[in-house]
Amino acid sequence: MSPDHRQCVIPGCPREGRNKLGVRCRVWHDQPTAHGKGKTAALWAPDADAFLCDEHALGGATITLLYEPDSSGRTTVRVIGARHVEPRSVQIKERGS
Ligand SMILES: [Zn+2]
Repeated sequence: MSPDHRQCVIPGCPREGRNKLGVRCRVWHDQPTAHGKGKTAALWAPDADAFLCDEHALGGATITLLYEPDSSGRTTVRVIGARHVEPRSVQIKERGS
C-alpha cells in the first residue's frame, strides 16, 4: 500500500478511498455581511480525514448532520459509524485575517 493509498471508510470495504468527505457552509443571501463574502461563497469547508471508494461515493448514501455549536472559532468534522477517523479541525477565517 503506497503512502498515498487510503482505504475506503466503509467497514469491510477493501477498496481504495479515492474521494474525500467534507462539509461546506455557504452564504445563502444577498444582504451585506461582516465577512464580505457574497452569495454562494463558502464560509468554511473543512475536509474530514475520511475517504470513500468510487463505488461507495457514487452508489448513494444517507448523511446525517449533527451541528453542535461550541463557540471555538473552529469547525471540527467527526465521522461516526465508519472506521475510526480522527476528528479534523480548522480555524474559521474571517475577513482580513
Ligand atoms: Zn468502499
